[in-house]
Amino acid sequence: MSHILLRDLDLADIGKLDVYVANGGYEGLKKAVAMPPGAVIDVVKASGLRGRGGAGFPTGVKWGFIPQDNPVNYVVVNADESEPGTFKDRQLLTGNPHQVIEGALIGAYAVRARAVYIYCRGEFWDLAHRLDARIEEARAAGFVGENILGSGWSCEVYTHLGAGAYICGEESALLNSLQGLLGQPRLRPPFPAQKGGGLYYEPTVVNNVETLANVPYILANGADAYRKFGTEQSPGVKIFCVSGHAERPGNYELPLGTTFRELIYEHAGGVRGGKQLKGILTAGVSAPILPATDAVLDTPLTYEDVLNAGSSLGSASIILLDETVNMAWAALKMVRFFKHESCGKCTPCREGCYWMLQLLERLNRGGGAPGDVDLLDEVAAQMIGKCLCALGDFALNPARGTIQHFRADYDALFEAAGEVEAEVETEPVSEPVGV
Ligand code: SF4
Repeated sequence: MSHILLRDLDLADIGKLDVYVANGGYEGLKKAVAMPPGAVIDVVKASGLRGRGGAGFPTGVKWGFIPQDNPVNYVVVNADESEPGTFKDRQLLTGNPHQVIEGALIGAYAVRARAVYIYCRGEFWDLAHRLDARIEEARAAGFVGENILGSGWSCEVYTHLGAGAYICGEESALLNSLQGLLGQPRLRPPFPAQKGGGLYYEPTVVNNVETLANVPYILANGADAYRKFGTEQSPGVKIFCVSGHAERPGNYELPLGTTFRELIYEHAGGVRGGKQLKGILTAGVSAPILPATDAVLDTPLTYEDVLNAGSSLGSASIILLDETVNMAWAALKMVRFFKHESCGKCTPCREGCYWMLQLLERLNRGGGAPGDVDLLDEVAAQMIGKCLCALGDFALNPARGTIQHFRADYDALFEAAGEVEAEVETEPVSEPVGV
């Protein structure tokens, strides 16, 4: 099957405007501007496209929340891509940038926006500069700017660089950052789609890069063509980022509903060095780890099936951990990341991350006290549902997930510490020198 999203793998120069246009590029936008905006939203609703940034919310429904009679609406493209193990948006923006620009323009037309902001993480500064050049190409061809394709509708597209904070991938923190405010989440309601909740407090759609990259295909080919891929509740294709102990790490575009087993063993070449797979992180470090049982490996990669298996599909950043990994050590690494990235605005996350890290450091040093593992589980449980934004709930998953499925790895830390202690205690006392 040729790719819908990663078209740079089929056509090396698809990033160039003339090649993109020669291969059907901007046909979706042409169709869109010939329709009433509400009809464009209906097509996207019918396709069943769900947000690819992590939440999986239906894209057309999200667009439908924007008041059509408001004079100033915005579209913001979330290109922050800071989840560990996620590297799909970077490939889309590098290899096939016009498809993202076209998707964002279709979204802007649908919600009657006159400006699109592409918010790139700070480390994407080189990519943002290249995107600026692509936007200028599109402007010269009449796809961006005044009176687009003679429709009477005008829209500008801008790039904006963040400063490299994980929390700015959260949509309300992203909007604050874009406005020049401190990159911390906002209290909701009002939600971004409502007056008072979006960019400059005007109604705003925030969509992930990959979400928008699907839209030109849907407009050009119709909702039914898109629904030929995937499942009833999770239609379409998805880019799965595979990393960790994979033989062939990389981005794989496959229909939703592909199983973990197919993705890992048929596409990503299995586990590096032929080792046993022990655990799978399904959404970077944000979702609970799953043990690599047969039942999990046979789970279809859909929003609903991964949820039923006890985790979340999220951005589909699949990190493989082999038999050599102690999961208490892995939890330490993940919690250290969240402790560093917590914005500190709310107490349960700020304090909870600190205490989880203290406990995990002590356990991994071999100095854990009896009851530390239960205490760690309790600290994590205390955070559930009490944090201002999703980062707080993500942060507790590494501890809870590893304790639930890999408690023996925590016990192994005590055993290793006990052996060292026993060796020290039984070490023979040296004879005094010279006796
Ligand atoms: Fe900030 Fe964490 Fe609270 Fe989110 S949950 S607002 S990241 S302190």
